[in-house]
Amino acid sequence: MEAKPAVTFQHDRTVMYAKRPKVLIVGAGLGGLTLAMLLQKADVPYEIFERAAEVKPFGSATVFTSQCSPLIRQLGLEKEFHALSKVVTSIQVGKENRQIDFEITIGTDDGVERFGGETRVLARPDLYDLFLRQIPKDRIHMSKKILTTDQGDSGVLIHCSDGTKYRGDILVGADGAHSAVRKNLYAQLKKDNSLPASDGEALPFVNVCLVGQTRPLTVIEFPDLGLEKSQFIRLIGDSKPYACGTWTTKNNTVCWSLVQFLDAETSKDEDSFRNSEWGPEAAAAMCEQVRDFPIVSGGDKKLTLGDLIDWTPKEYISKVMLEEKIFQTWGSRRTVLLGDACHKFNPSGGAGATNALHDAAILANYIDALPDYPVSEDIEQAFLAYRSDRIPWVEEAFEQSRLFRNMVDKGFKAMVVRFILKYAPAWVMKARNERMAGYKPQVAFLPPDEINPLVKAMYQPSLHAKAQAQRDALRKDPSVTL
Ligand SMILES: Cc1cc2nc3c(=O)[nH]c(=O)nc-3n(C[C@H](O)[C@H](O)[C@H](O)COP(=O)(O)OP(=O)(O)OC[C@H]3O[C@@H](n4cnc5c(N)ncnc54)[C@H](O)[C@@H]3O)c2cc1C
Repeated sequence: MEAKPAVTFQHDRTVMYAKRPKVLIVGAGLGGLTLAMLLQKADVPYEIFERAAEVKPFGSATVFTSQCSPLIRQLGLEKEFHALSKVVTSIQVGKENRQIDFEITIGTDDGVERFGGETRVLARPDLYDLFLRQIPKDRIHMSKKILTTDQGDSGVLIHCSDGTKYRGDILVGADGAHSAVRKNLYAQLKKDNSLPASDGEALPFVNVCLVGQTRPLTVIEFPDLGLEKSQFIRLIGDSKPYACGTWTTKNNTVCWSLVQFLDAETSKDEDSFRNSEWGPEAAAAMCEQVRDFPIVSGGDKKLTLGDLIDWTPKEYISKVMLEEKIFQTWGSRRTVLLGDACHKFNPSGGAGATNALHDAAILANYIDALPDYPVSEDIEQAFLAYRSDRIPWVEEAFEQSRLFRNMVDKGFKAMVVRFILKYAPAWVMKARNERMAGYKPQVAFLPPDEINPLVKAMYQPSLHAKAQAQRDALRKDPSVTL
């Protein structure tokens, strides 16, 4: 009898390793931790591998718009999130003379009724600590630097720098802009001639940034801390190639960042620093160069960045290269990327953390929707759906981050961008904010968010992935019980 190819090559799910796939997450940044929190709730087995030996409070402020509010509520974190954050409604943009030139609206006072949440600012270390506390300790393996990865039809394998290996069914590279998972995946795809040329190119960096967070200050030291809303102020250098950002926080600290714009010459000086990541390396020298840059603190005080530097523990000041790129390839077979590992935005747009959270929510929905005993093809299809849901929003966030980067840059183009932002009619900004506010991913496996704002959530394909998968399974085999 003639063999039926479709039947002959069908995988036998009953010999697969486990009913639900085991997920190995590389990188315990905000993206990796969010995915872990969600998989924990979805009852999908997972483990996280982080190369750092311990968590250090690096970083400056993180801004979240209402686009993350439903997910934060679904995770049951809203109360603590509010306790750690301040509402922010605008970016105040000024010059070295400390005068505010114009404001860009990024939130409204009626954010909950209108969008389902306010725009809020909190210190990245506080948010990180909140997320980390949600993960059972035995699920996170610290001091596990992943060097290489392998994948085949039956699973994935990761190799750590201490010689240990771990096996799973799905590998998630949440290991940041210089992702080792991405490098391994791309090396394999390149060998198979299936890597797009642009993915083979180095991550382009555009500027250098110094960030930190002061110790808690008094209103005498920093008067703006007395204001209820977070004061988000950006001063752009006229004579100096710098732009400074400051944010007041709920914990009475001031988060700060200073971006240095590079030209052909200064860019060469920074070349040796290219692959470094968030940490105190080389920060001291830059601190000395930028001490005199003015900042606004409220009242009559004329502070400079040097004051903030002196109020910040030295070991928590980081210097980083700021790269920008969206990678085309987000996954293949059993390996997938999320967050900075597949799209690195310039932080001027404040979109990095929001998009890592959104990636995690959408990916969690597709992982949760996988059939029992998933095979490589099921997993790869899920990854394709995840990318196609996310890519339009990632592209939009990328463009917005570029716009904000250009706004604080030097030169004619920057002047034009500032002019447009300053004089754009209010309705243009309002329409844009409302459109963005409609994209607020939730997960399908937790009770839906109950807040019903004026700006409704738009259709989210991943919320229906499980129901669709079940309908498909029933169509193929009517004996399946749903
Ligand atoms: C310490 C730190 C401070 C930051 N501060 C700021 C800031 O002030 N402002 C801002 O805009 N953005 C900051 N960022 C970036 C911001 O958090 C991210 O853009 C965003 O949250 C997306 O996060 P992510 O989880 O994709 O990547 P990341 O936050 O970069 O997290 C990646 C994680 O993977 C780990 N990792 C990397 N390689 C390996 C490996 N081979 N094996 C195992 N683990 C690995 C890293 O140690 C890190 O914990 C910071 C990131 C870090 C890690």
